[in-house]
Amino acid sequence: MTVFAKIVAGELPCNKIYEDEYILAFHDINPDYKVHALVIPKSGHLEGIQDAQMSDKELLGHLMSKIPLIAEKLGVDKTGYRVVTNNGPDSHQEVPHIHFHILGGESLRGL
Ligand code: 5GP
Repeated sequence: MTVFAKIVAGELPCNKIYEDEYILAFHDINPDYKVHALVIPKSGHLEGIQDAQMSDKELLGHLMSKIPLIAEKLGVDKTGYRVVTNNGPDSHQEVPHIHFHILGGESLRGL
C-alpha cells in the first residue's frame, strides 16, 4: 500500500485542499515551492501516466478539470502555476500512485 493509498484510506493524515468522490488534493509534506500541492485519483490503479487507458479518460479528465478550482483554493489562479507529473526513475518519482504536483506561489524557473 502506498502512502497515498493510506491517505485516501484515512490511515495517514493530510492537509486537505479539495476532495470529491474521485480525487483528493492536499499539501505536499515536503514542499519544494511556496505553494506545492498534490492531486491524486482516489483509485490507486495507475502507477503513472504510462498506465493510462481509454477507460481512465473520465477519471483523468475529471482530475484535470478540477485543477483550476484547486489552484483558486491555493490562491495561485491569478499568479499562475505549474502542473507536473513524474514518471519512473529518471523523473525521481517516489510514490507509485499517479499524482500531479501543483507548483507556484513564486516565480518558477523556466523549463
Ligand atoms: P514524486 O516524487 O513521487 O513525484 O512525488 C511524491 C511527493 O509526495 C513528494 O513531493 C513528497 O514530498 C510527497 N509525499 C511523500 N509522502 C507524503 C505524505 O505522507 N504526505 C504528503 N502530504 N506528501 C507526501
